[in-house]
Amino acid sequence: MSTPVFVTPSGKKLVTVIAGDGVGPEVVRATQRLIEATGAPIEWEEREAGAAVFRRGLPSGVPDDTITSIMKTRIALKGPLETPVGFGEKSANVTLRKLFETYGNIRPARELPSVPTPYSGRGIDLIVVRENVEDLYAGIEYMQTPGVAETLKLISAKGCEKIVRLAFEVARAEGRKRVHCATKANIMKMSEGTLKRVFERIAPEYPDIEAQHIIVDNCAHQLVRRPEQFDVIVTTNMNGDILSDLTSGLIGGLGFAASSNIGNDAAIFEAVHGSAPKYAGKNTINPTAMILAGVMMLRHLDEFAAAAAIENAVLVTLSEGVATRDVVGDANAVGTIEYTDALIANLGKRAASGQTRDYKPIKMPQISSAVDFVRPKERRVVGIDIFIESAQSAEELGPAITRLVAETPLYLKLISNRGTRVYPPTGAITDNADHWRCRFLANDDQADLDDATLFDTLQRVSAHYRWAHTEKLQYFDGAPGFTRDQGED
Ligand code: NAP
Repeated sequence: MSTPVFVTPSGKKLVTVIAGDGVGPEVVRATQRLIEATGAPIEWEEREAGAAVFRRGLPSGVPDDTITSIMKTRIALKGPLETPVGFGEKSANVTLRKLFETYGNIRPARELPSVPTPYSGRGIDLIVVRENVEDLYAGIEYMQTPGVAETLKLISAKGCEKIVRLAFEVARAEGRKRVHCATKANIMKMSEGTLKRVFERIAPEYPDIEAQHIIVDNCAHQLVRRPEQFDVIVTTNMNGDILSDLTSGLIGGLGFAASSNIGNDAAIFEAVHGSAPKYAGKNTINPTAMILAGVMMLRHLDEFAAAAAIENAVLVTLSEGVATRDVVGDANAVGTIEYTDALIANLGKRAASGQTRDYKPIKMPQISSAVDFVRPKERRVVGIDIFIESAQSAEELGPAITRLVAETPLYLKLISNRGTRVYPPTGAITDNADHWRCRFLANDDQADLDDATLFDTLQRVSAHYRWAHTEKLQYFDGAPGFTRDQGED
């Protein structure tokens, strides 16, 4: 078992099941029927989340007894949940992922028989392993000025180590040979760069697997040009969200895209698609994505025979040309229930050779839970960035702010606007916003500044300008913990 499970007195593995919104109940029921038909020792604990819960006024969309149930079972099979559009309410999906630290989002994409795509016959069979709790999706956002918004992109070395090791372990569990790490480290050297550095440090521990870094935009390009070259792609949350939707598109769309959200303590299995409200209750929706998520869940529960039986039934049924309207069009389609009946009837049949893999349990990475995961031997505070809101020009601000810190241990190194140096001027044309980053550095380049000095700088600036944000400028083990601006020497 990759994570702990709750075994009932009758020896069954207990799974929290959330039917979800829109088409959720139809696809979840189809999945339950198939799992039950395999005879796998699974027992369901039905719980609620999503639209009805929001309507009752609970802003998280996830009631306590659903959380308590998953705390107990550690495994959830979840239908799609509607996310209210507006302000105030959170996404129930994101709430669940974060509550249970399901840090790995695993999304397989592989060619299926008789599901026509522009790539048919190319043998696409890959997995995106997406970091699932950090990055821009942590949702830490601010309006720094009335007209300038900020989203914090926090990437931890610990989070990177977990997702990188998970990607290699998934590769091993599925007999895969290559892991690409897709980042934008060329631009975001600190945040995306951390994933790249961690990947390059850990890869040699998996000598049986080829490891390669790829810039994420090229990865997207290569996925469209030659998707069959990819086996496992590990990436950050936002990149992974986009890349994995792209890979779903390569193999026939959302009707086939399954996913798991796994952590060391709990795992949630779901289809990638949403509640598709226009199809709700119409018996036309393709349940395969949810069913394949159920297959991932069975493997996670070490129920490999049941997982293989369902997977083979899906492959055989599709090969027979039995499919829902999204694959074969209205005239030739069977309904959700009839498709599920056909799958059940095909349990026990084997797909053509080469269509299935020999799966092993995923060895979940065991990583220190220490909060101070990275401990530098030496650190030094060398300055402060103070972001101010001002309608003045760079030419006015520069000399005035320089004067504010005259005869202090710091000097104004530069002012930038949206990342580009504007003072001292570079001659570049910039269309400025009312949001200026003033970078103050110590006059003594060996100094280690104390907080009182930084506060004094902030006080001097804030006596004349509305400040919005600050960042400490530090060196860790001799390396700068901050980047330079465009145009900064
Ligand atoms: P969606 O529900 O995924 O549906 C978009 C379109 O994708 C559908 O209209 C349909 O396309 C196709 N599709 C989706 N599922 C399919 C399936 N099983 N078989 C065949 N085709 C399928 O996306 P949305 O309309 O943007 O979102 C609706 C709600 O779901 C929103 O509230 C959103 O926040 C939520 N959502 C939840 C999750 C989740 O719970 N994990 C994920 C995504 C979205 P055609 O119209 O072309 O037939």
